[in-house]
Formats: sequence, structure tokens, C-alpha cells
Amino acid sequence: MKKIAILGSTGSIGTQTLEIVRANPELEVVGLAAGSNVELLEAQIREFHPLKACLWEEEAAADLRTRTADITVEIVSGMEGLLEIASMSESEVLVTAIVGMIGIKPTIAAIKAGKDIALANKETLVTAGHIIMPLARAHHAAILPVDSEHSAIFQSLNGEGAAWGGMEPDERRRGGRTSGGQVSGRVEKILLTASGGPFRGRRKEQLENIRPEDALRHPNWNMGRKVTIDSSTLVNKGLEVMEAKWLFGTGLDQIQVVVHPQSIIHSAVQFVDGSIIAQMGMPDMKLPIQYALFYPDRKPMDGKRVDLFELGQLTFERPDQDTFKGLGLAYQAARTGGSMPTVYNAANERAVQLFLDRRISWLGIADLIEEAMGSHSAVADPSVEEILEAEAWTYEFIAGRIGP
Ligand code: NDP
Repeated sequence: MKKIAILGSTGSIGTQTLEIVRANPELEVVGLAAGSNVELLEAQIREFHPLKACLWEEEAAADLRTRTADITVEIVSGMEGLLEIASMSESEVLVTAIVGMIGIKPTIAAIKAGKDIALANKETLVTAGHIIMPLARAHHAAILPVDSEHSAIFQSLNGEGAAWGGMEPDERRRGGRTSGGQVSGRVEKILLTASGGPFRGRRKEQLENIRPEDALRHPNWNMGRKVTIDSSTLVNKGLEVMEAKWLFGTGLDQIQVVVHPQSIIHSAVQFVDGSIIAQMGMPDMKLPIQYALFYPDRKPMDGKRVDLFELGQLTFERPDQDTFKGLGLAYQAARTGGSMPTVYNAANERAVQLFLDRRISWLGIADLIEEAMGSHSAVADPSVEEILEAEAWTYEFIAGRIGP
């Protein structure tokens, strides 16, 4: 039995993780956490029987306590509750499927408690990668990527010796553990693929009147609202560039974004001899989630297979960084480093919400990120508290510009 806890169990990644648990009796859920979705969390508790469950809002948690009075489950709430779920002694792996920087503290708590992390919450690495990766190495905790692109890179590096954290899967199976963080001298570059989102090929002037419902229509992936908007602006790819930098320990110049509209190649690694190893599959998040949960094993999974004859061709393009300037801003934020990636991430988070509330335009999202970054003096090597201060500064800056 592998015992897992899930932060964000009611969301897109969380519910797909539970689908994998349903199909694999060797997985057992011991902890669940969500924001405010009482109904769905109650249903999940009744089906998966965790020992502990958490809702962020105390009022919702009290409601859940009443609803589950007939079963044995402890209901906790708030950050204290998230930290409890993250570090509970019964779990071996924490799936971080929560949205936003709220994932930082629970991820740190889980690593300190010796848990492996199946990491979907990219914001944690983007803003606190300099804290998370060394901590994971110190505590021998594995950071296993759930993001499909990073899982593809991880899979492409398998068997490449010291390529990922210095351990072969076999070594890990014998009890060794790896936290990633260093690609070997064998890697020339990472080819990070992007679908290009729903507006690929359009010019700036054609994107002035984009409505939330247009941006929420992703051509290939069915995801949560925030990450779907981020895909439409290529900010998601920018966040993934920063995530890859921390996960694999590569230089930014070694990470090249390649637009691949079919989303069949989920990313690739180019080695020093010119070989490219890519991972291909249908666009289905269950595959990378399952790979992270069973790594280094590969388990059977039902579902549609890639049919190369049906596909006929795979195509590739350079990203249009003039129109989708959020991508270039991410490289800029990562180069500056320190608290700048936090400002990039927090400004985007707020701007996406403002766009969804129809208070700013779709093009205004990247403009706001640029303005916030331009007004921020980066703090080098920030602590968690300084990261959270940079987040609060960004929210204040945007409130000052747009209103609360
Ligand atoms: P969703 O919006 O679908 O789900 C978010 C989850 O987080 C929900 O369970 C929500 O609970 C919970 N949550 C929100 N706020 C809190 C809080 N304060 N305390 C506890 N739980 C909270 O997001 P996704 O599943 O799409 O994304 C999750 C993460 O995975 C993000 O970082 C995203 O970038 C990343 N990711 C997502 C992919 C995808 O395919 N969806 C692909 C790759 C990465 P509630 O329902 O109660 O609000």
C-alpha cells in the first residue's frame, strides 16, 4: 500500500488523482484538503475514508464536521489544518494540487516530515525553488513532477545516469532517494513544449476584445480556470520555464519553449550528442499523475492511445513573444531572480482574476505583470516571509492601480 495525502482534492488535478486511486487498490488516501467545496469533500471522505480532512474556511469546516459526524474522520481548517495534512505521520506522498503560493508552507512542512512530493503546484517552485530544492535534498525527499511537461522531461531523463539527482531508478528502488535539481553534463537543452493555447497565430490587434469565455476554451487540455487562462497568455509556459529551472537545475538558456499545437510531445531533452528523447502521449493529466505516484514503476492505464497514422503529422513553431509577452517577462523575472518571480506570479494571479471579473482586458494581464515588475526592487534570496511580503506588495500595487 502507498499512502497519500492530497492538497486540493476537489480541483482538476485533485479529482484526477482520486480517479487514479479508484483504479489502483494499492493506493490509500489518508488525508484530503480543499478550499470551500463542502459537498464534494464530504463525498470524497465517504468514498476514500481519509483519517483527516481540511477545509480552508473554518465555517465550511464546521459544516463538514456536522455532515460527517457519523464517520471517523478528523476535520481541521486553515493553514494549521493544511500543515497537519501535509505532515501527517501516516502518509508517504503529498500531492500538492492546490492553486497559488498558499502551497509553499505545507510543501515545506511535508519535506521536513520526510514525505515525497508529487508536485502540481508550480507556484511553490517558481517563488520558493531556492528554498524547496535544497531542503528536499537535505531531507532526502523526492520532488516528483506532475506537470505534464516536467513529467515528460523527467521521463526523457530516465536511464541517463546522473541526469536527475544523481540516482538511477534502480538505485531508488533499492531504497535510494532523489530530489532532482541537477541535470548531468549529458544534457544540452530542454525543449519545453506549449500548445500555444486558443489564440495561437493571432496578432495583438486581433486580441483586444477577448472575453473570459473565449480564453477558457483550451483546444487540448481540460484544466482549472486559472491555469487555462495562463495557457492562453503563455504565462503558464513562463511559470513552467521557472519550474523546470529549479526541478532540473538547468540554466535558463538551456530551456527552449517550442510551440507544438497537437500536444502529443509533452516535452523533450536534447543531449550533447544531438540525440533528442521526447515523451509522447495523449493529452491526459492522469498519466503524469500516475507516473509520479508510482515512480519508478510504470503501471497499466486504460485510455485512448496515440495513433500516429490518425495524427499524420506533428508540427512545431517558435513562440510569438511580441503578442504573448508574458513568456518573455517570465525569463526576465527568472534572470533577475530573488523576489521578482513572486511578483510575476502574484501580479498574474491578481490580473487573471481581474480579467475573469471583466475589469481588465486579456492584453491587460501581461501589461499589469510588466508594470508590477517594473516597480519592484527585487530582494535577493528571499525567506518565506519575504516571499509572502513580496506577494502582499504586489497585491497592494495592483489594488493601487485598478482598485480593490
Ligand atoms: P483547480 O482550481 O481546479 O483546483 C484547486 C484546488 O485547490 C481545489 O481543490 C480548491 O478547493 C483548492 N484550494 C484553493 N484554495 C485553497 C485553500 N486556501 N486551501 C485549501 N485548498 C484550496 O486547480 P488545478 O487542479 O487546475 O491546479 C492545481 C495546481 O496544479 C495549480 O498550481 C496548477 O498550476 C497546477 N497544474 C494544473 C494542471 C491541470 O491540468 N489542471 C496541469 C499542470 C499543473 P475548492 O474546490 O474547495 O475551491
